[in-house]
Amino acid sequence: MKYMITETECRNGISGVCSRCGGELSPMDTVDNSGNPTFWCGCKECCCFDNGVSAHVYNIARRLVVEQLFYRYSFYKDEPGETAEMKEYHQKQQISGACDIVRKVLWLAEEETEKNVLSPHAKIAPGSTGVR
Ligand SMILES: [Zn+2]
Repeated sequence: MKYMITETECRNGISGVCSRCGGELSPMDTVDNSGNPTFWCGCKECCCFDNGVSAHVYNIARRLVVEQLFYRYSFYKDEPGETAEMKEYHQKQQISGACDIVRKVLWLAEEETEKNVLSPHAKIAPGSTGVR
């Protein structure tokens, strides 16, 4: 049976690290939603599919969570008497969620920097994109 995405195609598309543990991503043999065999990028350590984030994004997201500056999900929280495995799982889920925010913030920061370079004294009206 023909693979929708071959192992080589999948491997060539991998960039970055696992958004949960920061580990290495590799092609994982699976089936897609239509039942066709395919390879998807994922983390064997976390047993999750993952599209990957840059190590820069992961490290910032990890610090936000570990240093208790940001929690993405209220439902992944440690209850009294939680096992070490569950605490680790919650932390990984929080880091993965924080990665989305960090990526967006870095993207916004870059966009805002470009705007200020173009017109350093421009005031941007609320609701305006600032693009003229
Ligand atoms: Zn992982």
